Amino acid sequence: APEYVRKIAPYQAGKPIGELAREYGLDEASIVKLASNENPLGMPESARRAMMAAMDELGRYPDSNGFDLKAEIARRYAVPQDWITLGNGSNDILEIAAHALLQPGESAVYAQYSFVVYALATQAVGARAIVVPARDFGHDLDAMRAAIEPDTRVVFIANPNNPTGTFAPAQAIEAFLASVPPDVVVVLDEAYNEYLDPGLRFDSTQWVRRFPNLILSRTLSKAYGLAGLRVGFALAQPELTGLMNRIRQPFNVNSLAQAAAIAALGDADFLERSYEINRQGKARLQTAFDALGLQYVPSYGNFVLVRVGDAAAVYERLLRAGVIVRPVAGYGLPEWLRVSIGLPEENERFLAALPAALGR
Ligand code: PMP
Repeated sequence: APEYVRKIAPYQAGKPIGELAREYGLDEASIVKLASNENPLGMPESARRAMMAAMDELGRYPDSNGFDLKAEIARRYAVPQDWITLGNGSNDILEIAAHALLQPGESAVYAQYSFVVYALATQAVGARAIVVPARDFGHDLDAMRAAIEPDTRVVFIANPNNPTGTFAPAQAIEAFLASVPPDVVVVLDEAYNEYLDPGLRFDSTQWVRRFPNLILSRTLSKAYGLAGLRVGFALAQPELTGLMNRIRQPFNVNSLAQAAAIAALGDADFLERSYEINRQGKARLQTAFDALGLQYVPSYGNFVLVRVGDAAAVYERLLRAGVIVRPVAGYGLPEWLRVSIGLPEENERFLAALPAALGR
């Protein structure tokens, strides 16, 4: 295997509930998992019904081209179908973009504390990473623009970002896009877009029409509640979409996922409930952190990054109390934990366990 593959630190997913229950001798049903930025409402009922109806066709391959799902996305985002790439989760989109655009001898730019898959995808193709120091835990877009080198082919931006929850306003992203050399592709990852408050929302798809070097990435894993099914998609002009389509595995999105995604995209009611429960839960957690005198990064996503001191110890004590959160030492944040927003009762379980876990 190439040296650059040997050097990759594998992705660390949150431990499954069952595994932790066995390890810590806990009752599985009583465990609260606030570790993977999942939707606490679970999956939409509309998607469940669509999947059940699609079950009879599982003996056949899925539609490799995802015609019906692309038609739904095309309608909702007002783009032609040949501007859409479907992914097995948006992680797949990020990987496809890296494979299509990067090779050894070239570089990708991304921010310190930005989503770990940018590093993994860059390393997997043997390209060089240019990691730009964060500013106030977020993307320093001016510094990222300045960090672009002649061999840079891709810039990854997460907006909002995971694990910090920071957000760059539309004008800042737009100015960045306008300033990037046309032969550098910007992958704008908007996995948490649907959690933005109405006043901050903007039509980022208009940038896809304006900038031929933009790949916009979205996911059904968060506000749409389909993390387990693995559906994401990219919007980009036909030339970039054509490149990604060469790299994409045939049948990368399975038939149940395609059916469920069509239903979820049309379920405005579920989306609104996801937003609302997240808004309230986030306010509750941030207020509680204020009361405890804990520093946190004001979040635009469905999670909050909070400074707890010895995060490894606090994480461990929370686990023993049946609450799973996410350590972020791997990001270079050993004093911080990332807590996903749960249902009201889940947030309360976490907050009830927190003071003791902090050793107070
Ligand atoms: N981008 C960001 C910023 C994320 O936080 C995540 C989920 N952890 C993803 C992409 C990938 O999510 P998925 O593959 O489930 O679409």
